[in-house]
Amino acid sequence: MTAPPPRILVSACLLGQPVRYDGAAKTVDDPRIERWRREGRLVTICPELAGGLGVPRRPAERQGERVVDDAGDDVTGAFDAGAHAALVLARSRGCRFALLKQGSPSCGSVQIGDGSFTGRRVPGMGITAELLSANGIRVFGEDQIDALDAALAATPR
Ligand code: SF4
Repeated sequence: MTAPPPRILVSACLLGQPVRYDGAAKTVDDPRIERWRREGRLVTICPELAGGLGVPRRPAERQGERVVDDAGDDVTGAFDAGAHAALVLARSRGCRFALLKQGSPSCGSVQIGDGSFTGRRVPGMGITAELLSANGIRVFGEDQIDALDAALAATPR
């Protein structure tokens, strides 16, 4: 029997689901994503919804180990819960890779907001991307699809 191809955990907003804090999506139009969908590789989650937050919700940013919204409320618990839900899902579905929305306080993998809600970004990871990475799942942003494609091609089934 042939082993299933390595699966990819994907941010729901990148696949067109209107789950961002402002009720929008951030759809990525790339033929490779459609191919991975046809191959049965995609596993979708929005960690912030999985952590109990709704749509719309207040924008939030990391401030060190905490996550706060723009009203100053601490929402770290929901972000942590979402990250753990993402890890459980990734493990249960055999995801060795993740394709997550760059810049998000949950999903960002290279840069995130600097905590000032001014639009400035700094190098860093969101809560979910950090947890997945720490558990051996390779995380890519939507700006790194070439690298993800190459990593998949180099991964035996
Ligand atoms: Fe998209 Fe991730 Fe934010 Fe959900 S938590 S809206 S999947 S960037």
